[in-house]
Amino acid sequence: MSDLRDLYQEVILDHGRRPRNLREIAHADRRARGYNPLCGDQVEVFVDLDDEGRIADVAFVGKGCAISQASTSMMTQALKGRTVEEARELFDAFHDMITAPSDPSPAVLERLGKLAVFAGVRDYPNRAKCATLGWHTLVAALEGREEPVSTE
Ligand code: ZN
Repeated sequence: MSDLRDLYQEVILDHGRRPRNLREIAHADRRARGYNPLCGDQVEVFVDLDDEGRIADVAFVGKGCAISQASTSMMTQALKGRTVEEARELFDAFHDMITAPSDPSPAVLERLGKLAVFAGVRDYPNRAKCATLGWHTLVAALEGREEPVSTE
């Protein structure tokens, strides 16, 4: 299990150092800003939807701890091509994995795919807000909320 932990940590550190889809989308269909005052993490998420309501492009800019930036980076990779409803389901699964008192079920882990690397965050409750900041911001963007999201 500790080898697996190391591997997970490597993936998170890699995304933290070199976040994917780290750019603004000019004239994005949807955008929202999020802030985690507990840690000082900030992200802004941009989403472009195609004619069928699928996520054609998603990107972010931000600064903060490795967990917050890596989580948002991996989120953008997981979302491309998904419908808004699928994105919400993925958010629910991710949120459950990190905040639920019991271990995530194999079905939830399978649905999350690579995002399951964040399962270890459950052992560090004060990191949960870092890991979910990008996701809360995504949901705000999809819902067209103007107010910045705060995890507090
Ligand atoms: Zn953080």
